[in-house]
Amino acid sequence: MATERTLSIIKPDATKRNLTGKINAKFEDAGLRIVAQKRIHLTKAQAGEFYKVHAERPFYDELCDFMASAPVVVQVLEGEGAIAKNREVMGATNPADANPGTIRAEFAESVGENSVHGSDAPETAAEEIAYYFSGLELVG
Ligand code: UDP
Ligand code: MG
Repeated sequence: MATERTLSIIKPDATKRNLTGKINAKFEDAGLRIVAQKRIHLTKAQAGEFYKVHAERPFYDELCDFMASAPVVVQVLEGEGAIAKNREVMGATNPADANPGTIRAEFAESVGENSVHGSDAPETAAEEIAYYFSGLELVG
């Protein structure tokens, strides 16, 4: 399998509870390298642009408010099959369905406040990385 990069976000529910280090340890223990990382506070408009694929969904407005409610940590993870591997480490969207040991099983508070975002395919990973990082910030 090829080396890939994927966009990860540690969401406000997790940064508020000081879980950045514990979540990063899960990535590193799974063999993912954090090759870029920064803590930012999104505006609601910036969150809305990032999640525009969900604009018609009933949870969209609440999701945008949540993502702008406190700082997030945006990061690029690199590794063999990083996109799927990160989705495995994250666990299912709804923590009630997440496998034991996954980030969402251990830390998520609800289906909305579920601690992490991860890209779902190569095309979205490339777009999402470019939304937050310039090429100069990606230091493999
Ligand atoms: N979400 C929500 N309610 C739902 C489904 C999703 O609030 O019923 C939120 C949740 O924060 C989720 C995000 O919208 O992580 C994006 O949804 P998606 O289906 O892409 O899930 P993910 O890829 O994050 O697992
Ligand atoms: Mg998604």
